[in-house]
Amino acid sequence: MNGIGKHIAILGAGESGIGAAILAMKKGWNVFVSDFGTIPEMYKGVLEEKGFEWEEMKHTESRILTADLVVKSPGIPDTADLIKKLNEAGIKVISEIEFAGYYTDAFKICITGSNGKTTTSMLTYHILKKAGFNVGLAGNVGDSFAKLVAEESYDYYVLELSSFQLDGMRDFKADIAILLNITPDHLDRYEHKMENYINSKFRIIKNQTADDWFIYNKDDKNITGWLETSSISAKEAPFSLSDKLEQGGYLNKEQITINIKDQFTMSIHELALKGKHNVQNSLASGITSRILEIRKESIRESLSDFVNVEHRLEFVAKVHGIEFINDSKATNINSTWFALESMENPTVWIVGGVDKGNDYAELLDLVKDKVKAIICLGKDNKKIKDTFTGVVENIVEANNAMEAVAYGYRLAKKDETVLLSPACASFDLFENYEERGNEFKKAVRAL
Ligand code: ADP
Repeated sequence: MNGIGKHIAILGAGESGIGAAILAMKKGWNVFVSDFGTIPEMYKGVLEEKGFEWEEMKHTESRILTADLVVKSPGIPDTADLIKKLNEAGIKVISEIEFAGYYTDAFKICITGSNGKTTTSMLTYHILKKAGFNVGLAGNVGDSFAKLVAEESYDYYVLELSSFQLDGMRDFKADIAILLNITPDHLDRYEHKMENYINSKFRIIKNQTADDWFIYNKDDKNITGWLETSSISAKEAPFSLSDKLEQGGYLNKEQITINIKDQFTMSIHELALKGKHNVQNSLASGITSRILEIRKESIRESLSDFVNVEHRLEFVAKVHGIEFINDSKATNINSTWFALESMENPTVWIVGGVDKGNDYAELLDLVKDKVKAIICLGKDNKKIKDTFTGVVENIVEANNAMEAVAYGYRLAKKDETVLLSPACASFDLFENYEERGNEFKKAVRAL
């Protein structure tokens, strides 16, 4: 899209907004960056250095409503006043991913889902990179797609996409689309209708043709339900933990099998990522790699030597035979479900924070089976105590990570595990989930 002489307004000066501004300038657009909040110093520096026109703490409508194109941050909902006005004025409002897509012919592997996006994106990137592909990683993880398109010349991209980013897509097309799972999350942005959230996730296959691939979780009822009533153009490569699939990938006892182009098998004990949810992630990445015809030996090696991202079922240390695991990124019930499910030893579970409408009863069976004690790490722990009193004998409350770890060390014995998997956001006691995980790790290392 030729931007010469045209005006573009970029709403939101975060990672994606700055990336879009850099790309737009390179392509000849007159760029105006506007943020209703305060812009972090780091980004202000970039705006100044590159000579962009910008503003903060306001949106000057006379400049925005006269733009030829608007790129909106995924954080701004469609219901915001300004967006409504832009729509009424017939001005095209797109996402940074859509914008960047105009300027590259690279092969795009796009990954979405309620949980597992970052892990699967990083794993896929790792496999491709080790196999010698000229590949970039962008989206929710790392740099913005637009910035990489402006500054690099990759032949392949692995893109982690949230539903908010998918909402701003129109002509964008994924060559390989991956949909990991759909469980309730962010429903406040979707009029509290699950159906709207599901439709948003399925935008990942928009514009795909018979040359493209759609990799999805066949065990997920929200996904299969949608597929039953819709037809899709892409080639399908589902994965499952229970059904043997002729095309796609599955788990059979302790082995994964991928049937794409021919057959690839590997023992789950060789996989770097542990736990059933990670078998799904490994299957999705493995299928992608086989579609790209990466050598089996190379895939096998990469699936087994991948080092997981911090705060996701991250092994911290073993202290006097007690294992400590940091899963601070688990901010909803579904991800904690998988964490508990993958525990092989009796577990002392650290849980709590700010919940987004959790129904803890969904964890009852697993908790009965695996959990010997609960440490609540939040300001308001009533729901947790109400659900698990009588189920777990020992329930205690901690006010900070240090206290939680000290309780864990006291309550667990040799060959048992202390797991931080909060199922909640962290901002009652911590800045963010990273701080929560880091404080936990610091406390463990101080034992
Ligand atoms: P996202 O980027 O979608 O937030 P992450 O890869 O950062 O996902 O993982 C977030 C949390 O979800 C972690 O606690 C992790 O253990 C859990 N998780 C990872 N993969 C899956 C999956 N396929 N299904 C359910 N939970 C998962």
